[in-house]
Amino acid sequence: MKLTEIFKQNKLSLSFEVFPPKNNTAFESVKAATEEIASLSPSFMSVTYGAGGGTSKYTLEIAKNIKERYGVPSLAHLTCVSSTKETVMEKISEMKAAGIQNVMALRGDLTPELEKSDPKKWAYRHAIDLISDIKESGADFCIGGACYPEVHPESANQADDIKYLKEKVDAGCEFLTTQMFFDNNLLYNFLYKIREAGITVPIIPGIMPITNANQVERAISLSGSFMPQRFKSLVDKFGVHPDAMCEAGIVYATDQIIDLFANGIKNVHVYSMNKPHVAQKIMENLAQILR
Ligand code: FAD
Repeated sequence: MKLTEIFKQNKLSLSFEVFPPKNNTAFESVKAATEEIASLSPSFMSVTYGAGGGTSKYTLEIAKNIKERYGVPSLAHLTCVSSTKETVMEKISEMKAAGIQNVMALRGDLTPELEKSDPKKWAYRHAIDLISDIKESGADFCIGGACYPEVHPESANQADDIKYLKEKVDAGCEFLTTQMFFDNNLLYNFLYKIREAGITVPIIPGIMPITNANQVERAISLSGSFMPQRFKSLVDKFGVHPDAMCEAGIVYATDQIIDLFANGIKNVHVYSMNKPHVAQKIMENLAQILR
């Protein structure tokens, strides 16, 4: 099923993100975790693409397994900045052959080597180039893209970021998933600005449940997200008690999701990070709301 069909439905839904293993040894345990999450019947599941593409075969295997064994629509991520045109075309063919219908078209983060090299020599500079190639390949995918309520770290300002986002949508991006954020007001402000800029595709807020104190620093350094005082206090108080921190992080994420639903958002994506207990608890917390 194409995700645009889900977004058209007039009901609230929750989806989950998982990531592929780094090697074959971890494959079975990661697969089992993704299956446990799939058995919760989320509206869809996304499977990330490891930086550089080294784990792309696992992305496909997991996306295919979730769809075929559990009937959960899957969204396979694909990045382009470290790839050649030939590799990307190969990946598109493999996705088609695996029956994948939804692709998250991303640029990928710049590696230190890329940062030192001349961008004119790169086969892909931005996600829009990948979207154009997917369209040109004739593959009938529903294409998603990333967006940043707090502005992409490389952007000079939000106006530029939104201008390029509009171009990405016009090139064929049918929905956008947001970077994580911990203050919903940032999302509401962003929505207002992008709608004003003429971006009308579904926006799927991405919520990251922070379930241990070590995750905090990594999440901020990856996303540059603003941490509200309310969240900082929670980490200060419960960070040293793993079970308490896990409980508090899930409740904080649940609270964010309820507020999003209450303010008109229909689909929320949870960065569940291969943690079935986190996905399950959030589903339980929202059982009556999702009915
Ligand atoms: P782009 O859309 O290309 O934007 C990157 C920057 O370039 C922005 O500053 C933008 O404003 C600017 N820009 C865009 N188009 C142009 C243009 N035409 N001219 C000039 N400037 C332009 N990374 C992974 O490696 N694997 C994953 O699976 C993965 N999944 C992700 C899922 C989500 C929901 C999000 C939010 C991020 C994900 N990432 C993933 C990280 C992502 O690859 C990085 O954030 C990356 O730095 C930007 O990717 P993008 O597709 O948003 O790039």
